Amino acid sequence: MAGKPLLRVVNVKKRFGDKIVLDGVSFTLNKGETKVIIGPSGTGKSTLLKSVNRLVVPDEGEIWLEDKEIIRCKNINAVRQKIGYVFQDFGLFHHLTALENVMIGLTKVKKMPKKEAMEKARYELNRVGLTGIEDLYPAQLSGGQKQRVAIARALAMEPKLMLFDEPTSALDPELIGEVLAVMKELAESKMTMLVVTHEMGFARSVSDEIIFIEKGKIVEQAPPEKMFREPEHQRTREFLFKLK
Ligand code: ADP
Ligand code: MG
Repeated sequence: MAGKPLLRVVNVKKRFGDKIVLDGVSFTLNKGETKVIIGPSGTGKSTLLKSVNRLVVPDEGEIWLEDKEIIRCKNINAVRQKIGYVFQDFGLFHHLTALENVMIGLTKVKKMPKKEAMEKARYELNRVGLTGIEDLYPAQLSGGQKQRVAIARALAMEPKLMLFDEPTSALDPELIGEVLAVMKELAESKMTMLVVTHEMGFARSVSDEIIFIEKGKIVEQAPPEKMFREPEHQRTREFLFKLK
């Protein structure tokens, strides 16, 4: 056995109005694994990730983070602390410096003393390759630096699971690499990660498995070698072909 499931998504369904957005999605993610979710836009990928930390509440199904069921659990904040969430628009606080952005969850949520939080925040910024920018504000940073601050902020909370929703989609092409490099290192350090991305090079070289989702359903799920070399479904072939 490769590892224990950290995350188990079981038959999750969600509709918005009369539109079915997630139509019975099931998969597991073992400890230390990285899975990449690909698929056309408007197909439920973000809704799926948001369901995992209950920013969206599914209509049916179960989502287990180890022994906690997320959809119906009473203390969602305790669960959210274990899940890092990084998305396209960074979500940094503009009135706080890079260092303060990383510290804030530590001091406000974890009630860590300021000095300790500052040390931890410096360590996390260093881990994503950012030194010397601690006192800069988000507006003074490049997109790639902003996204790395966002990753450092998530990591500072010591999550068990990291969710990435198109983390490089808002970046200029020359800045994408620095963010993907950080994510690759994280995956290699055996962080458990669920990543929505269109970066097929990353998917191919970093993921343990790729999930192709379309119209709220998992069409195919396979290790990257198989997904790229011999996808089973015609729809997967068409999607991958279009990207090339
Ligand atoms: P993806 O991330 O794959 O592009 P999303 O999960 O963002 O897709 O959206 C899937 C579908 O659900 C889209 O048609 C979108 O318009 C719709 N949708 C997403 N969020 C909401 C919402 N809060 N209210 C209504 N419709 C939504
Ligand atoms: Mg999306």
